[in-house]
Amino acid sequence: MNNLKLNDSVSSVKGIGEKTEQGLAKLAVFTVSDLIRHYPRDYDAYEPPKPIESLEEGEKAAIEASVITTPLVKQVRNLKIIGVRVKDASGTINISWFNMPFLKNRLRSGYHYIFRGKVIRKNGVLVIEQPEIYTRDEYRTKMNILQPVYPLTDGITNNLLTKSIKYALSAVEDTGEYLPKRIIKEYKLMNGKNALMEVHFPKDRELLGEARRRLIFDEFFQFTLALAHLKESKTGWDNNFALTEREGVTDYLNKLPYKLTNAQNRVWGEIQKDLQSNHSMNRLVQGDVGSGKTILAALSLLLTALNGYQGCLMVPTEVLAKQHFESISESFRNYGVNTVLLTGSMTAATKRGVYESIKSGEAQIIIGTHALIQEKAEYRNLALVVTDEQHRFGVRQRETLSDKGNHPHVLVMSATPIPRTLAIILYGDLDISLVDELPAGRNPIKNCVVDTGYRSTAYRFIGNQIKEGHQAYVICPMVEESEAIEAENVIEYTEKLREAIAFANIDYLHGKMKPQEKNDIMERFTKGEIQVLVSTTVVEVGVNVPNATVMMVENAERFGLAQLHQLRGRVGRGNAQSYCILVCGRAGKDIRKRLEILNQSNDGFYIAGEDLKLRGPGDMFGIRQSGEMEFKLGDIYQDAKVLMEANEAAKQLTKEELETILTDAPELKVKLETFKGGTL
Ligand code: ADP
Ligand code: MG
Repeated sequence: MNNLKLNDSVSSVKGIGEKTEQGLAKLAVFTVSDLIRHYPRDYDAYEPPKPIESLEEGEKAAIEASVITTPLVKQVRNLKIIGVRVKDASGTINISWFNMPFLKNRLRSGYHYIFRGKVIRKNGVLVIEQPEIYTRDEYRTKMNILQPVYPLTDGITNNLLTKSIKYALSAVEDTGEYLPKRIIKEYKLMNGKNALMEVHFPKDRELLGEARRRLIFDEFFQFTLALAHLKESKTGWDNNFALTEREGVTDYLNKLPYKLTNAQNRVWGEIQKDLQSNHSMNRLVQGDVGSGKTILAALSLLLTALNGYQGCLMVPTEVLAKQHFESISESFRNYGVNTVLLTGSMTAATKRGVYESIKSGEAQIIIGTHALIQEKAEYRNLALVVTDEQHRFGVRQRETLSDKGNHPHVLVMSATPIPRTLAIILYGDLDISLVDELPAGRNPIKNCVVDTGYRSTAYRFIGNQIKEGHQAYVICPMVEESEAIEAENVIEYTEKLREAIAFANIDYLHGKMKPQEKNDIMERFTKGEIQVLVSTTVVEVGVNVPNATVMMVENAERFGLAQLHQLRGRVGRGNAQSYCILVCGRAGKDIRKRLEILNQSNDGFYIAGEDLKLRGPGDMFGIRQSGEMEFKLGDIYQDAKVLMEANEAAKQLTKEELETILTDAPELKVKLETFKGGTL
């Protein structure tokens, strides 16, 4: 049966036909290898029974209770419903089953059972419907079994994935153990194949933990390996675009409505030094939300253009691209610099025009989204590439952009508060500058953590802020399962909010909207035409509307603190007092304690660190903090220790070991090559 190869199409897996294949493609699963690396997003566990009193609507839970009524069978149309009432030390609840009349003889009044099923609300009271029934002993043997819960899409069920993955794992010839025995031993890693088995079908939590550690180690190991190669290939590049000082830049600085902070000044000095040196710049500027990174990009771009070269600024969203374009293009015109915007949603004809102006050199500064790295974008003399919100891009995209020029200077900006030890690893190929100071005179944002009962008060508060001429954001919870549901949520919420704050102009933004629609909404919000913007986290990055003074986040407990900190960073950008209202769906003590951290500090580094301390190592599906750092399982915060180990292991690797690895695992070789966009 061992006849599947990692690179075979998923269609060679038993039971996967054409239709399923198309569905899987939507999950980016094309090959057997993709399939077995389609990891569960969670596990359904046979949890210890809960007290009846603590059951919550909508959850799947187990209770241990004794039957206190004789089972009653009712006939409702063609359904036979059997119901009993059960009781534990904390309370009582009704349970019912459909079409299982035989239970009448199994369930005995006065006996204990474990019931596991969905808690729903019927006629105003909680009931459990259709639960599984176990004796205490039966349940205990089940308690450790974890069932995988996979990310799904239309037409792809959890059951199908479970079966296909199980089959693929048993039929695949080789799952590619590529690590030298020495490393496996030294870092006490689980074998690669076992790790894959255990991550999908864990025998118990401990093994799952080990399996995850191994797979996360792989992710980080391969990443740092690739980064090291990238760095090696780059060191010592001559500076093809040595820039010299220009008066225009000084003038631009003098005309700013504010003075640079000390930190901004220092970093600007570091950047200038790079730009003028013998080697091309490769620099990361790390600074908290609102620390004023944009101006550093602007200064660098202006200097580049005034030296007669092209510079471009790539950002992750169209909204942000437009915003940067608007704030930069006009002021640059005063210095005779021509700035253009390039985004994916532009019409083909417009884009063609922009591409032409880039090629001819008529466009000196180009601001845009991924469109900047598309094949059609040919630059005349690209000397500087800046990526903003780098954590939203992969390293590859950054590199593709710089490949558009002949070793241009690279400036990367990120607000992710990564501790220095980790930043050195994750941005191993870059020098790092820190903007570790906020502009003076900012009013600290006032925070509060409230439960849903406070909603109407919050709406009144937002209403009052609007009457004073301000604006507000309301963030709807993310929906893990699908963007479509998420969109629906946002629209529904907006309708409710329109009733609650009837006089305000309220609109919404979500990931499913076309870029053009998003731009439109954002533009109207920026102009103040929209007063309350209901949104998913798409506004998280970089958006700058200083007149907005309220950030209200629904289901705040579902977000990582670093992300909440980013969201909060959307307000407090002007002179007016700003507020952040965190609404908690579930009012657990732990959750409150976590959210309170945001109250204590406005410092992203501090917040990320404290968040980490509060969450135990068992918290495997803690919220991902790092955005899109291109790891499937690993989280740079939570798995910081593994990251350091993997980095160390990659560094210690001998030449011979590396060669063996690349021969044994050709797919890894391909990975490294594409990663860096060149040859090894
Ligand atoms: P981020 O680092 O999050 O990208 P921005 O560059 O968007 O921050 O800056 C946030 C706000 O602070 C902007 O409105 C910007 O004009 C303003 N700003 C930047 N530097 C200073 C400064 N030195 N003094 C006062 N305001 C500043
Ligand atoms: Mg920014």
